[in-house]
Amino acid sequence: MTSPDGDTVGFADLSLAPELVAALASLGYEEPTPIQREAIPALLEGRDLLGQAATGTGKTAAFALPLLQRLGRGANGAPPRALVLVPTRELATQVAEAVHRYGRDLGVRTLAIYGGQPIVRQLKALERGVDVVIATPGRALDHIRRRTLKPEGLQTIVLDEADEMLDMGFAEDIEAILSDTPTDRQTVLFSATMPPRINKIVGTHLNNPVRIQLGGERHAPGEAPKVRQKAYVVQRAHKPAALGRVLDVESPGATIVFCRTRAEVDQLTETLNARGQRAEALHGGMSQEQRTRAIGRLKNGTIELLVATDVAARGLDVDVLTHVVNYDVPAAPEAYVHRIGRVGRAGREGTAITLAQPREHRMLKAIERTTRQPIAIEKLPTVADLHARRLEATTEALAAILSEGGEALDQFRVVVETLGDEHDPMEIALAAVAMAHRAAGGGAAVEEHEEIPDLSAPRPRPERFDDRRPGKGRPERGERGGFSERPERPGKRGGHRDAGGAPTTKLFIGAGRERGIRPQDLVGAIANEAGLSGRQIGSIEISDRFSLVEVPEAAADHVVAALSKRTIKGRKTTVRREGARTRRW
Ligand code: AMP
Repeated sequence: MTSPDGDTVGFADLSLAPELVAALASLGYEEPTPIQREAIPALLEGRDLLGQAATGTGKTAAFALPLLQRLGRGANGAPPRALVLVPTRELATQVAEAVHRYGRDLGVRTLAIYGGQPIVRQLKALERGVDVVIATPGRALDHIRRRTLKPEGLQTIVLDEADEMLDMGFAEDIEAILSDTPTDRQTVLFSATMPPRINKIVGTHLNNPVRIQLGGERHAPGEAPKVRQKAYVVQRAHKPAALGRVLDVESPGATIVFCRTRAEVDQLTETLNARGQRAEALHGGMSQEQRTRAIGRLKNGTIELLVATDVAARGLDVDVLTHVVNYDVPAAPEAYVHRIGRVGRAGREGTAITLAQPREHRMLKAIERTTRQPIAIEKLPTVADLHARRLEATTEALAAILSEGGEALDQFRVVVETLGDEHDPMEIALAAVAMAHRAAGGGAAVEEHEEIPDLSAPRPRPERFDDRRPGKGRPERGERGGFSERPERPGKRGGHRDAGGAPTTKLFIGAGRERGIRPQDLVGAIANEAGLSGRQIGSIEISDRFSLVEVPEAAADHVVAALSKRTIKGRKTTVRREGARTRRW
């Protein structure tokens, strides 16, 4: 990343403590992301901050690093001095891990607390002393009310993914928490979108905040490179398999796969090699000589894949390149433009492929807005697609040999004639094709490839929950404003679509009001277990004995499978597509 005057800005230039800079280096972060570059100096000064930034921009480190530095070395832990509010259990754990990793040399104690986890364990940890608490709003407020989390000592409050928290019905909890904490605290709010409700919080609770908005710079349509652009949406855990699948089907020429950190580069290079792909790493931790050698091997075709960080690949010019793969969505649209600019040079056709996590849909949209070019969200190739592609390749290879004809084939005539005494010519041809197919690596392991849950369809629906139940009184604490709780007859089906036009479907959940089920229990379970965002979950209808939840059609089976591993309110519960056969969770 460069400053306006063109100099490279590193973490050390942001006045971060040496302990933090060292922790970042050991994690393989090579340079700050744009949001970090802008937010860190302001937060170190103690300013309030309003950041419009989605998952994937590096926003966690943007608030966590200054927060840790301001706590200082040997924080004493009682009472907590920083509170980070997040919408889901998953994010609480993720942020807590990040804060712990960044602050490992400062001796700062962190704790994640969220609903669903035994409160006793949280009480003990809070009693022992904690410096930074990362919590879902409902559980944070429970602890504040019990006085097990004392808000008086809080110096910094971070609202992370604030729009998502509001969508999940946490508005009142957040208001209550903010009102209980010292007014001279530092308040930081990150949100992917800025609906009026967020502005209301900002107006009431933030003091003259620094405002940061990412992705403002637009490129004219002609400026961004002309490249075929597509994306696949997969959970992080399935990315290596998804990448392998995509590479198998695409059969690219020379390819650069971009990762965020050195550690990721090394790990992915190893995984790809273990899968039989010829890949080498390229990152800032390698000597110049090693880097030049790796680039040379890509250029001369010895390897097919170069797995690289942005820094190491800067200025790289490889004219044989056919594909660029973003193993993660880049932290800023500008980085995306730089990366994909490496293919499609000199009028050749290039392809850019991005693997996005479900939460990163928004980043893709921001990139589309910046480049003014569409990114097609595609369905991951299935095992059957892969099989078909490999058969196609075998057919093409055989057709090429047949078209050569003549002497090249004559020498094998004796084999066919010998076998012809006992076998039909079609059978002999089939056996020969099978042999060729296996030899090309096409037959062996297709069945071993697991199906990867495809999450490509769901698109966020803006502010959908705002206008549902106008003026119908105050929702229960923690409930999302605006759910319809009117039970609908099971079996009533219809080709529904969400506001983004993607088809939705209803899931039947065999627990309702009689079991104390509230909308937020269902939203929380689906968000935490299946990785959907609050916005991807549609209407929720709770009747006495059962509930119906609307989810994107493409994610329905994944949600059923994810929930089937869980209990709800401590009991196994039926969950299935509405009208389908029973499955327990
Ligand atoms: P976030 O937007 O905070 O969810 O961060 C997205 C991912 O980017 C996380 O996996 C971080 O570990 C990673 N990350 C954050 N900052 C950097 C950086 N400066 N360089 C490389 N990776 C980063």
